[in-house]
Amino acid sequence: MGYSRCRICNAQNGNLELTDDVFIWPEGLAHYVRDHAVRLPVEFVVQHAGQMESLTDGLVVDDEWWRSQASTSH
Ligand SMILES: [Zn+2]
Repeated sequence: MGYSRCRICNAQNGNLELTDDVFIWPEGLAHYVRDHAVRLPVEFVVQHAGQMESLTDGLVVDDEWWRSQASTSH
């Protein structure tokens, strides 16, 4: 169906759908996570927990976001 554009910044954002036989996601998913701080469903994170360490090597955790979520939830 051609290239997809980012729903947030309109950047060209991939043209594939990827799957692990449980989930299916667009090629551009990483762009949303990296550039727009989109959080993935916990089921997906758990499913890929083993791979997450290698994917997040060198990634700086945005602990300010986590703190703000904690303070607004009660
Ligand atoms: Zn974007």
